[in-house]
Amino acid sequence: MKQKLEKLLQEALAELVQVSSEDSLHELRVKYLGKKGLVTIVMKGLGALPPEERPAAGQMVNVVKNRLEEEFGTALNAIRTSRKEEKLRSERLDISLPGRRRPMGTKHPITLVSEEIVEIFAGLGFQVAEGPEIEKDYYNFEALNIPKDHPARDMQDTFFVNDSIVLRTHTSPVQIRTMLKQAPPVRIIAPGTVYRCDSDATHSPMFHQVEELMVDKGITFSDLKGILTSFVNQCFGSGIGVRLRPSFFPFTEPSAEVDIACVICRGKGCRVCKNTGWLEILGSGMVDPEVFRHVSYDSEVYTGFAFGMGIERIAMLKYGISDMRLLFENDLRFLKQF
Ligand SMILES: [Zn+2]
Repeated sequence: MKQKLEKLLQEALAELVQVSSEDSLHELRVKYLGKKGLVTIVMKGLGALPPEERPAAGQMVNVVKNRLEEEFGTALNAIRTSRKEEKLRSERLDISLPGRRRPMGTKHPITLVSEEIVEIFAGLGFQVAEGPEIEKDYYNFEALNIPKDHPARDMQDTFFVNDSIVLRTHTSPVQIRTMLKQAPPVRIIAPGTVYRCDSDATHSPMFHQVEELMVDKGITFSDLKGILTSFVNQCFGSGIGVRLRPSFFPFTEPSAEVDIACVICRGKGCRVCKNTGWLEILGSGMVDPEVFRHVSYDSEVYTGFAFGMGIERIAMLKYGISDMRLLFENDLRFLKQF
């Protein structure tokens, strides 16, 4: 019996060396220590021995059984440890590798210029105001002293939604909406998208404007000129010449077009300024009393000025862009330059 047990033990240990997975280890354990296992059978056979031999035989079986339990336990630990190590090895991260770069977008030149203009005017005490792009004819025209059938309507090729709704042709209706909501003093800047039925190298059916309005007691034309000069110097560089030419807008009186000395040739004359040395950048004027009447401001007490400029125009001059359509084609080679 002793030899039989020794043999079983040696066989079991020899098989154990071959085992590499938890499943096969389990099978091996069942084979020797299971209910019908080889060692268990020997244990069950103890009853057939003469009583005086039983204790010694029982002890031997227990020694073998315990030894196998121990060996199986050690093997199980070893299998689990090596599996864990393998998993760690396969999931290992090399933290010294450089990261994957996400391509970064840049701001569109129109956004850049718009933000810069807003920042300059914020520094002069102007607050941003906004209004809808689909606008009532009343705010877009009527309240700005452009009644129906007024020839000034022909100055702006309008997209009509219906008889009384338009896509706003300028940011000026924001002036009306603001003044209807608040009493003077008013000092706003209104950047936004506007629409006109027009398209060529210098016109787009959708473009951007920024409008300024300042109303208070005692505002004069020299305030307009002072604010404008300050803006031009901050936007295009100090010492740039500013020139005002008499003009006409239905919502301002008197009105002036504002030119700056050509930023390309510094006034000497070039292709961009058509050899005049000057570039037109915006329209301006003192708010027409008729506009104040529409918003119930007393034009005997309050005066104000307004001006509006095309953001595309400013961007083209600042960055030397010759065709406005480049701004809307969204060609990355172009946009990445900003
Ligand atoms: Zn020039």
